[in-house]
Amino acid sequence: MPRLSRRSFLAASAALAVRPAAAAVAAAPSGVDVVVVGAGAAGIAAARRIAAAGRKLAWLEAADHIGGRCITDTATFGLPYDRGAHWIHSPDLNPVTKLAPRRGIEVYPAPASQKVRIGRRYAREGELEDFLASQARATRAFAETGRKADVACAQALPADLGDWRPTVEFVLGPFGCGKELAQVSAVDFAKSAERNADALCRQGFGALLTSLAEGIAVKLSTPATAIDTRRNVSVETPKGTIAARAVIVTVSTNVIASGGITFTPELGSRHLDAFGKLSLGSYDHIALEIADNALGFESDDLVFEKSAGPRTAAILANVSGTQLCLVEVAGAFGRDLAAEGEAAMVDFAADWLAGLYGADVKKAIKRSHATRWNHEPRVQGAFAVAAPGWQGARRALMEPVQGAVWFAGEAVHETLWGTVGGAWESGERAAEAVLRRLGGQKEAPITEADTTVKRKSKRLQTEPRSQRRF
Ligand SMILES: Cc1cc2nc3c(=O)[nH]c(=O)nc-3n(C[C@H](O)[C@H](O)[C@H](O)COP(=O)(O)OP(=O)(O)OC[C@H]3O[C@@H](n4cnc5c(N)ncnc54)[C@H](O)[C@@H]3O)c2cc1C
Repeated sequence: MPRLSRRSFLAASAALAVRPAAAAVAAAPSGVDVVVVGAGAAGIAAARRIAAAGRKLAWLEAADHIGGRCITDTATFGLPYDRGAHWIHSPDLNPVTKLAPRRGIEVYPAPASQKVRIGRRYAREGELEDFLASQARATRAFAETGRKADVACAQALPADLGDWRPTVEFVLGPFGCGKELAQVSAVDFAKSAERNADALCRQGFGALLTSLAEGIAVKLSTPATAIDTRRNVSVETPKGTIAARAVIVTVSTNVIASGGITFTPELGSRHLDAFGKLSLGSYDHIALEIADNALGFESDDLVFEKSAGPRTAAILANVSGTQLCLVEVAGAFGRDLAAEGEAAMVDFAADWLAGLYGADVKKAIKRSHATRWNHEPRVQGAFAVAAPGWQGARRALMEPVQGAVWFAGEAVHETLWGTVGGAWESGERAAEAVLRRLGGQKEAPITEADTTVKRKSKRLQTEPRSQRRF
């Protein structure tokens, strides 16, 4: 698929925005103006925008808490443990970070580099350079190939990565995208903004995000089960049906693709295909409390292993200076492991660390927990990655249905997909489109937020950290 220039994107978006409004925009006098479905990052952003515009809002969340895939758990370890998103990417541009200081939450820069373990020792500088150079070459190859055709990243992977190949495959595939490179669109990969500069939140990213929903009424444990756009819009829940003028749906692509919400009339093939081809990858944290800094980590150390195959992981150690360490498993291996259950995941993490640091580490592991996002029925995975040939699916999801239903969420962003910041921006964008449709706002095209960061040609020298895609 040819890469779209910003100009052609805007032209296409403008065309979408001025489609004739369907009957659904007519008033629903006894109902609300807008229903927002889901209270993750996109839902919070949308609800804030609708509420700030003084529109009558019904905000529904299936779970008994808000935050979705960005949630901080303080109960399991007695300290902030982000079960989902943890890194705040591109903090200078991230819409969520900009709101943080007002809330008295501490956001600080993440370490700018990473370490690589080769057997029982750390990689030397030259070895690290080799690894980073291999990674940079692979990333460049994806971008170059993606300019010509939307093939799988695996097809574009340089053949001469030598013994770094499995590590590069892990870092750019499962670790970066939640999927193997054979399942990742080169265009999708290339379009994603660089995420080398990261920040972290001492109280947890989830705590930061959910604080932004304060003061807006949300109906918890209230799933939307069906959306009917035949006459006005109605949203069914187990607690009753809500009439509205527009709906913003922010649930994950896998929830929609698995029929979690019924649409009447049925969604067209353009939307259905898009949901199917933007399926969620697999990414989980195996959280370990490691006593007395037994492995000598520095705060927020990120360590990869020079691996021989896909059965590998990464560790984010001493989270915000605590004893909490997150062993990250992802892709097909992570998916299979998570299917075996939490005990198997913790066993793997302990064995993996013992292989890299010696068996004594097992004695230092105290409490543990593992996330299993594929098995969370309200999410069903980690983040959406376009299948080869299907990068355009993201724009398909930006098109409203019947002039009444808008989709938002991390999947509905072309450059910040798979991130909290991207989900937030897509929620705001959908809310603005709805407000314009309802009137009282100037009509303007639905545009992709201008967040694309210019690629640096000499990233290796200036940015030694592996590029993250989520
Ligand atoms: C393990 C992991 C690590 C990650 N790490 C990072 C990271 O470091 N940095 C980063 O930026 N991003 C990261 N991400 C991705 C990030 O978490 C997501 O991109 C983002 O949180 C998605 O927000 P969302 O609003 O699109 O969707 P969600 O957060 O999934 O929100 C959707 C909400 O809809 C609710 N819902 C589902 N069905 C219904 C229904 N029928 N009715 C009503 N409500 C419903 C769900 O319960 C959920 O609360 C990570 C994700 C995972 C899983």
